[in-house]
Amino acid sequence: MTSPRSSSTEVASRVHRVPLIGATAYVILEDEITVIDAGLRGSLPRLHAWITSVGRSPQEVRRFVITHAHPDHIGGAADANILLHPADRERPLRFNAGTIARRLSRLPATIDVADGDVVPVLGGLRVIHTPGHTPGSVCLYAEREGIVFVGDALWSDDDGALHPPNPYWSEDLPSARRSLDTLAGLRVGTILLAHRPPLERAERALRELAERWH
Ligand SMILES: [Zn+2]
Ligand SMILES: [Zn+2]
Repeated sequence: MTSPRSSSTEVASRVHRVPLIGATAYVILEDEITVIDAGLRGSLPRLHAWITSVGRSPQEVRRFVITHAHPDHIGGAADANILLHPADRERPLRFNAGTIARRLSRLPATIDVADGDVVPVLGGLRVIHTPGHTPGSVCLYAEREGIVFVGDALWSDDDGALHPPNPYWSEDLPSARRSLDTLAGLRVGTILLAHRPPLERAERALRELAERWH
């Protein structure tokens, strides 16, 4: 199994940034294929076309790891294991972004993940529960590679500064702030966001946001 090392989509070793409908997926090409987030419903053909374009088969997709159950992250997930924190599956309905998400995306059958779980990807991809944007938001930390996938738990601007998650679409900003403290303790070089370019100098960016956001 080879991956296209010089591909413009490769943002870390074996990790590819693939735009789907509504959000970016990160496709990890190992012997098995793992996909972080899945775009809106209708994204699956686009994902499969990309996988085929790099000489792999969509049948090699072993799992989706979903950072949270908003429709632009889980809508396209199908035909593989779908890992999701149960707080985004079982939360009570409320009139907020979460309610809208549940109405728009009929959730597929999912496999629970919990804080501290390690998915066998990239030498060990650790699940970090980071509630705030949604109750079941998780970040995924590949310590060996020094990268963390944050979904929508954080935002960034064009100057490379980190920001809190979008307040309109986030359910609990105080929780999101506490989650930032968890992330700020990581040894990490690159933050991979769902709607923004990769952000380098990650530890410094996390520290600066923690100082600014009270
Ligand atoms: Zn999103
Ligand atoms: Zn979201």
